Amino acid sequence: MTQSTGRSGQPVLPALLGRSGRGDRFAADRRRSLPAGVLRLPTIGIDIGGTKVIAGVVNGEGKIVEQLRTDTPDKSKSPKVVEDTIVELVLELADRHDVHAVGIGAAGWVDSDRSRVLFAPHLNWRDEPLREALTDRLKFPVVVENDANAAAWAEWRFGAGRGEDLLAMITLGTGIGGAVVRQGRVDRGRYGLAGEFGHMQVVPGGHRCPCGNRGCWEQYSSGNALVREARELAAAESLVAEPLLARAGGEVAAITGPLVTEAARDGDPMAVELLHDIGTWLGVGLANLAAALDPGRFVVGGGVSAAGELLLGPAKDAYRRTLTGRGFRPEAQIVPAALGNEAGLIGAADLARAVARRFRTVKRSRVERA
Ligand SMILES: [Zn+2]
Repeated sequence: MTQSTGRSGQPVLPALLGRSGRGDRFAADRRRSLPAGVLRLPTIGIDIGGTKVIAGVVNGEGKIVEQLRTDTPDKSKSPKVVEDTIVELVLELADRHDVHAVGIGAAGWVDSDRSRVLFAPHLNWRDEPLREALTDRLKFPVVVENDANAAAWAEWRFGAGRGEDLLAMITLGTGIGGAVVRQGRVDRGRYGLAGEFGHMQVVPGGHRCPCGNRGCWEQYSSGNALVREARELAAAESLVAEPLLARAGGEVAAITGPLVTEAARDGDPMAVELLHDIGTWLGVGLANLAAALDPGRFVVGGGVSAAGELLLGPAKDAYRRTLTGRGFRPEAQIVPAALGNEAGLIGAADLARAVARRFRTVKRSRVERA
């Protein structure tokens, strides 16, 4: 059998290449399952993160028509306060737009029925029946989704994951968010908790993680990891960290992820090296995921991905060096996310379109019966 050459210059079996046709077919199947009218309905998406709640009206092309933002209520506040925040945002948007459903993307564990938030690290939600509570208070059908799942869905529908029938998304923020879209569906796992890639152990006995374990992937490849390493270096009064420290006004605590990225873009060798390390760990983790999932494409998003090739270049190198069966298998593409910080909002709104259809059908049948 003749062999063609993969992106890494390693031989790849030609029969296994060219998956785009299959991916397009699944995408088309999914689109066919929703009537064209429903696909155009504007819906509201809400992304509840650790510090900000953003809400927006999203049209059928995945474009945000109007967006509002507010601070996430403090963790000490009751679940009711977060509900109040959501209700206020929805009612304000619904005043000005003809919307048909609400999708909530929450940083937390959402059960497989997508009705209860089992646990949210930044909020006082513990087995919270969010969908029921909001459906009671709002006049709209409500969908609740994990924020990483919502972001992956948005990238699959409208962004860097389009046409891919097995997509893995990695979000590098303070930690690592993960999600899988398989054949046009979010793969949530049996209990709704799939995609917690950030807590795979990569270094036995390594850095402590808030999850209670040691050596989790997100302790080595995330915004927090980047800042920890940069600050450690600066606090050690290393000469190589002097330019970085000067950028932060001489304050170790003022070194942030965006500041390191900015320094790396300006060519500061230490900042480039720090991002190289984060990228290398990213590539190692992606190779582990490829061993488990065999996706066609990895989409990398989140704040740290703003570093672009400074992060993804080393990630791709480490991926190729670590991938099991390298040289004898196709390699998944590793691409940057396309939708930025709004991916979660857009995905939550789009996932709500499925219930918007039912909502409209119910309304219509009531009218017909009357
Ligand atoms: Zn962990």
